Amino acid sequence: MPELRCPICGGPVRVDDDALPGELVEHDCGAVLEVYQDGEGRLSLRPFEGVQEDWGE
Ligand SMILES: [Zn+2]
Repeated sequence: MPELRCPICGGPVRVDDDALPGELVEHDCGAVLEVYQDGEGRLSLRPFEGVQEDWGE
């Protein structure tokens, strides 16, 4: 998998080869990024704005 780019600082972000959409990655810059699949089916990153604690069941 090619390196993805951090939408916050523009730096490269390494994600696991088996990363799935919805997975969270913490970047060196401190941003929490969410892996998602873009319109072309490729994995991309976006800032994670949700609050995990609010996902409660
Ligand atoms: Zn970053």
